[in-house]
Order: sequence, then C-alpha cells, then structure tokens
Amino acid sequence: MSNLKKLPVTEIKGIGEETAIALSTMGISTVEDILLYFPYRYEDFRLRDLADVKHEEKITVEGEVHGEPSLMYYGRKKSRLTFRAYVGRYLVKAVCFNRPYYKDKLHINESVTITGKWDQHRQTITVSEIHFGPFNRQQEVEPIYSVKGNVTVKQMRRFIASAIKQFGNSLEELLPFELVKKYKLPSRFEAMNVLHFPQSSNYLKQARRYFVYEEFLLFQLKIQALRKYKREHSKGITQHFNSDVLNEFIESLPFPLTNAQNRVVNEILRDLSTPYRMNRLLQGDVGSGKTVVAAICLYATILSGFQGALMVPTEILAEQHVHSLKGLFQQYDISIELLSSSVKGKKRRLLLEDLQEGKINIIVGTHALIQDDVNFAKLGLVITDEQHRFGVEQRRVLREKGFNPDVLFMTATPIPRTLAITAFGEMDVSTIDEMPAGRKVIETYWAKHQMIDRVLAFVEKELQLGRQAYVICPLIEESEKIDVQNAIDVHSMLTHFYNGRWQVGLMHGRLTADEKEDVMRQFSENEVQILVSTTVVEVGVNVPNATMMVIYDAERFGLSQLHQLRGRVGRGEHQSYCILLADPKSENGKERMKIMTETNDGFTLSEKDLELRGPGDFFGRKQSGVPEFKVADMVHDYRALEVARQDAYNMLHSEEFWVDVNYETLRKIVLESGVLDGDKLD
Ligand code: ADP
Ligand code: MG
Repeated sequence: MSNLKKLPVTEIKGIGEETAIALSTMGISTVEDILLYFPYRYEDFRLRDLADVKHEEKITVEGEVHGEPSLMYYGRKKSRLTFRAYVGRYLVKAVCFNRPYYKDKLHINESVTITGKWDQHRQTITVSEIHFGPFNRQQEVEPIYSVKGNVTVKQMRRFIASAIKQFGNSLEELLPFELVKKYKLPSRFEAMNVLHFPQSSNYLKQARRYFVYEEFLLFQLKIQALRKYKREHSKGITQHFNSDVLNEFIESLPFPLTNAQNRVVNEILRDLSTPYRMNRLLQGDVGSGKTVVAAICLYATILSGFQGALMVPTEILAEQHVHSLKGLFQQYDISIELLSSSVKGKKRRLLLEDLQEGKINIIVGTHALIQDDVNFAKLGLVITDEQHRFGVEQRRVLREKGFNPDVLFMTATPIPRTLAITAFGEMDVSTIDEMPAGRKVIETYWAKHQMIDRVLAFVEKELQLGRQAYVICPLIEESEKIDVQNAIDVHSMLTHFYNGRWQVGLMHGRLTADEKEDVMRQFSENEVQILVSTTVVEVGVNVPNATMMVIYDAERFGLSQLHQLRGRVGRGEHQSYCILLADPKSENGKERMKIMTETNDGFTLSEKDLELRGPGDFFGRKQSGVPEFKVADMVHDYRALEVARQDAYNMLHSEEFWVDVNYETLRKIVLESGVLDGDKLD
C-alpha cells in the first residue's frame, strides 16, 4: 500500500508541475490531500414541482418542448433564444442567452431538462443549463469545489476522478470495524467517493455522516489526550486544607448552597487538593451565585497557607467583589485588599509590600494584578470573573515569577454545550445550572421606540413604589454614522422629562474611576433613582433595589449581552422588569427580541445566539480555540459531537486503544499530532 500522505499530487495523471503549484495554494500537495479535498457545496439538480418554488429560486425541471423556438440576434455576438415548454400543469417560457446552437437541438414534444432561475411573475426560466432529454437521476447533485488561480471546478472534478481511479483503493481506513458497524457507517473509501461523486442525495447524507463522525472523533481524541496528558504530567501545587474548618464556613453562610453550588464546589476543591494544576471554567447564569463559590474556594486556599487573587474586567466590579467578600468573611481574620489604578503612590507601595510579605490573603483587582511590580508571597489560586482573557501568556508571566497557581475562570455568559466541548475542550467545565430558590422571573417586554412615553410611565410607577431603574444605551455620544440613542442625550431627555421629581445619573466608560465610583455609590444609596448608562454596567453590578431595565436599540446587542444586562435587575425581593426598545428590520432581529421575551434561561439564549449568529461570530471574532471542520458543523451536528466525545473518552481510557491493532491508525494519529509533547503544557 502506498502512503498517500507522502505521494505528491504530480503522481496523478493529468497533474503537472504547474498545476501542482496552483493546487498547493489551495493547501493540496499530496494525493491524500486531494482525495480529501471535498466540495464545499453541491448544485442541486433534483426535480422540483413549480408549485413549491419561490420567486428567483434556482431550479431544475423536466418538460416537453411546445411550439417552435425563436432566436433573435442583437449586437455582434449576442443572442436570445426563447421557447415554451410544458412542465407538469404549467406552460412556462424558457430564455437562453448567447447559445444560438441550442435551437437545432430543441424539438417539439421532446423532453428537456432545464436548470435556471425561476421568475414566478413572468412564469419564465432564465436558463443556465439544458440537458436535451429526460431527467437523468445519476446527476441529481453536482459537486462544487472552492478553487483558486487557474484551476477550474471542472478541472478539479477531473483531477479528483483520476486520483480516485489511480489511488482511491489505497485510502487508509481509520475507524475500527466495530464502530463502523455500530453506527452503520459506510467505509472511508465509499464515503470519500460519494462526497466527490454523489449518486443521489441519500448516499450523500450517509457519506457526510461518516466524515462528520471521523472529524469529530479525531478532534476529540486529540484534545482529550492532551487533557489527560496534562492532568498526569503538569506539576501544580497541592492544597491541603482542613475540610471541617471549611465546612464550618459554608454552614455559617446566610443561606444553604444550592445542589448545583455544592456540586461545583466539590469539583473545584477536588482539583485544588490534587497536584494537578487546575484549569477550570465555572459557568453559571447571572445570579446563580458564583461569588460565594469563589469565596469558598479562596477560603480553602487560605486555609492551605496560600494567597488568592480575584481578577475582574472593571474597577466597579472589583470594588463590588471586595465589598461582598468582606461581608462574607466578616467574622474571619482574613485580609482582603483592592488593587486598582486609583491606588497610587505610598498606599500602593505599602500594599504591594504587604502582598509580598504574605500579609494580604486575598487581592482583588483588574488585569494589573499580575503585572511587573506585583509579587506574591505564596500565590495558590487565581480566579478570573467574566472574562476569557486570562490565558497562556499570563500563566507564563506568573510561572516566571515562580508561581503555578490553580486557575478558575468564572463566566455568566454560558457557553453553548457545543462550544464548551470544542473551544474549551482542554479545560474542565463546571456548571451551575440551578438558581437559588425563590427567584422571580424577570418579566420582559419588547416595545417600539415610539412607545417611549408609555415605557416612561411604567418606569415612573416603579419609582413611586420606591424602586430604581437602569436605562441602557449603546453609545456615549451622538454619532453621525450610526443613528442610535446615546447615553448623554437620553440622560438630558430624562432629566427634563422627570423634571426634578427623580434624580437621573449618568455612567459611561469615559468617566474617571473616581467619577464612576461616585455615580455608582449614588445609585446604590438611592440618591439617584435612574441610572442612564452604556454597557459598562453589564457585568456584576449589584443594586438589589433596581427593578427596571430599559434598553435602547436592543436589536444592536447579542442575546447573551442582553441577558447580561437584564441580569442587573431581579436581584432583590421585588418583581423586576426588562423593556427592550427596538425596531428591528430583519427577521433575525425580530426573532431575537421575541426569544428574549420568552425565556429567562441563559443557556437557552446562548444556544439560540450561536444558532442565529454562527460559531465564528459568537465570540465577536474567530477565536483560535474554535476548530474548523471540513465537513462537520458544530452547531448542526451537535449530536454526533456528543457521541464522538464519549467514544473518544472511552477509547483513551481503555487498554485496547493503546495496544490493539484495530486502533493502530487512530493511535498513530494521536501520537503523531504532537499533543503529547511536553511543550504543549502552557
Ligand atoms: P453571580 O453568579 O451572578 O455572580 P452572585 O454570586 O452575585 O451571582 O449571587 C447573586 C445573589 O444570590 C447574591 O445576592 C447572593 O448572596 C445570592 N445567593 C447566592 N447563593 C445563594 C443561595 N444558595 N441561596 C440564596 N441566595 C444565594
Ligand atoms: Mg458575579
């Protein structure tokens, strides 16, 4: 058997040096590459009933020529051929441009198969292809390849046909026979063949099923092998804490933990107490109680004789966390400090000294926490809240300072199940999927901007009950380019509207840290009843008396972000409301507003968001961790991904996988992929 991975494409008949160069720009250099270079779509030539076809859709129909075709020339080389045909019960007109030679091939009462664009109003097909004769089922679907340079799609088909003829039989089978049998999959060779030359759409489905599974399985084998290897080899710290003392603290909390909180606490504590370096994601909806989980873990770290750091994206959030932690540890001799950009000069110097001498147990702050002049006595645990930014680079910095702490990422933007498996494949994930008892559902309404008067009346009713309100705008100042309400304008409008009856505050990213703090304090102390703000209040802000959330231009936000914003209310004992002001133009936009009014569940919303925006957009940009698959689609083939994940797990944890001949090919792929090299350990 020749090794197709090593055989250059020039071994294929019809491919010379020049073509090989063109192909290499498409990422094809070996015979295997070209065999596995699949079409990105198929032209669908399946017959359609005209009754089901929408205006301007591309279709293929079979008909009988009716009457003489007429040919007209205009300009030097331009022509227009028109004929009529009976298609089922329709008499349609067909128009072909610049193909005068078709005229002699069209004969009255004979069958033709026409492909083209359907004009429903004129009952006319603008022809792109004609097959003279009845429809041929062999050609229902035709592969379209993405090509570059001088290579055409037709050539690609030819090259691939030659490649299959010469070498197709040598294509290596990857999956052990039991799996192929279990899932009733075609062989790899068959599947490859069908993807290139589908006989019918049903075969195509089976072939696709094979490669979806193969791609997912290989991917899962690699990331899980990496994770297993890391677990077994990465040297972290072992935290020994007294569980009785820790339990006392948990008992002392003002509320019992939910089952979900208990579960994730145990998952994290288990990681802390092993020498394995924790790399865990804790996801839980807004208000599901992540802070107290963080506090328990920090306490375990302190009991083990280490320091803890809590990193957050904004200073407001840092202050809030310091406040909550101080509350939770009121009765304990634990020193908690805030390190922010507003801590300067001598104060800062002293703080850093204390940190280095181990006098501070928990330090809370923004990114600055792990930079240059910040040194710890004994850092054991880093928790980051609401951000994905703490990565390999930051770990390196810490390691160079001599620390190898356990790391916990907390996020309230639930990652859809699919992405939790893929993007965060090498991270362990803990999920809080339960809310503390007695939480009220935030009632959500969608209103047009023109209904603002009614909305403001509604807000006023809440204010009269002693409650407070947020009003969120996408921008700070008026922008000529984008016609959206801005915070400054809305602030002056509301100040005018409420005319001294209520105090209106303004919050945005351009305020200094002191100004922000001041505004937040006024709002939390109810000196200000209405807070107009940009999305800076998105994460973590906690003012339980606020029950109203009004969001301008809501269609401009993603579902997960709207959900985050909505999560600023509903934090106290009172019924809360969220009003989305939006005039979405697209169906997608309307759909998103509707979903917001229908569900309060962050996981459902994140799944929907992914579905509506696609995985690339989900993180706002292509995230390096999100793999690209040739055939598989993470969103739509989710079930297969789950199955592959489980199978990969079972394989890697079985004896056979590492020795049995049936797994040889898969095993080789895992070993050769480099995932088990030491340098992959960040
Ligand atoms: P988030 O997960 O959004 O960070 P928080 O940690 O801020 O949520 O918790 C939201 C609120 O719920 C806080 O006021 C907190 O004290 C409260 N809380 C947390 N856990 C529980 C629980 N098990 N029972 C009742 N209330 C809880
Ligand atoms: Mg939180």
